[in-house]
Amino acid sequence: MQSGIQNRIDGMLHRVQGMQDSNLYYYNMPISELKGSTEVVVAGRTMLMLASYGYLGLLGHERINQAAAEAVHKYGSGTHGVRVLAGTLDLHLELERTIADFKSAEDAVTFSSGYVTNLAAISTIVGRKDIVLCDKYNHASIVDGCLLSGAELKRFRHNDMDHLESLLKRYSDRNTKLVIVDAVFSMDGDIIDLPGLVDLCRKYDAWIMMDEAHSVGVLGKTGKGIEEHFGMEDCVDIKMGTLSKTIPSVGGYIAGSSSLVNLLKHAARGFVFSAAIPPAQAAAAKTAFEVIIDEPERIENVQKNANFFIESLKSMGFDTLESETAIVPVICGTDEKAYELVGLCQNEDIFVLPVVSPAVPDGLARLRATVTAGHSEKQIKHALSVLEVAGKQVGLI
Ligand SMILES: *Cc1c(COP(=O)(O)O)cnc(C)c1O
Repeated sequence: MQSGIQNRIDGMLHRVQGMQDSNLYYYNMPISELKGSTEVVVAGRTMLMLASYGYLGLLGHERINQAAAEAVHKYGSGTHGVRVLAGTLDLHLELERTIADFKSAEDAVTFSSGYVTNLAAISTIVGRKDIVLCDKYNHASIVDGCLLSGAELKRFRHNDMDHLESLLKRYSDRNTKLVIVDAVFSMDGDIIDLPGLVDLCRKYDAWIMMDEAHSVGVLGKTGKGIEEHFGMEDCVDIKMGTLSKTIPSVGGYIAGSSSLVNLLKHAARGFVFSAAIPPAQAAAAKTAFEVIIDEPERIENVQKNANFFIESLKSMGFDTLESETAIVPVICGTDEKAYELVGLCQNEDIFVLPVVSPAVPDGLARLRATVTAGHSEKQIKHALSVLEVAGKQVGLI
């Protein structure tokens, strides 16, 4: 009897039930209502949201909601099909122009999610015989895109430019070399060494692809991202981002040269064979970029809040790794301690989550918190006082 699939199903059931039985299951919690951008209602309880990717507090923004509602009235709730056939709206082209301008690129193309964007773009740009060099901490969608492409994938130690250089040297005879990194790493909140990366990629003639899921709206004086942060102009060949984090919608994009965009619009399977972004989401995304430009104080606020949160945690004695952004790991060590710290915070109605192995290296299990532009000083101070008491109870500080 063939039982491999059933074993796999049963194995996961066993793991999840084990966690649920010990009250350690914190995932898939259903939110039933938003209260502004920083509070949510879960099972009747109002909780302070400290796990949001909405770094500029734009979820629920009136102007964005309105744009989405108007788009439904004008275009309906979906499209006539995939973009290439009957699915393209003028709205998609306006969104792509807005993204291209925001990212100082010639053009942009959108996909139905950030995950699909990485899969579709990477597997179109590189193939067998090519080499892709990835930071060890890159997002799973980048890894999956590389696997789908059939290119040879080599990983360098996290943010280690010496290790990257040794790999670039070793594979210098390859015609096509692509280096892919996250701008801000999603579990650690640290920033890629862009100046070092650009020097090496020019020296060894490699292209750079940058995933800006956690840097758009967060890095740079006007929130334009990693290049603005380092004061470097247009040094990234393939600028990838998502429309589901700072931008409160769904979808992903690649910005770059018009010829690159042209290639993706005709050859990327995740574009040609998958649905267009629905009208409401396209309108919301476009309006969100406009709001970022019109309300620049949000960018200042997220940076100020992140600095305050990180510095306060450090002065209490917590280890927050090298985070300099809105993503703040609070290192707990063992998985058990991470669950315990999260449990104590959740008991106090703070919405935070644990990240344990294999998502992060063994021994680096953590509570992962995010702060946004929407948080008030009072909310952050309250979260800090809960964390301080809980951290002492768990024996971390
Ligand atoms: C979230 C994320 C993605 C995927 O984006 P979705 O829009 O959620 O599919 C890609 N890369 C990174 C670094 C991410 O954090």
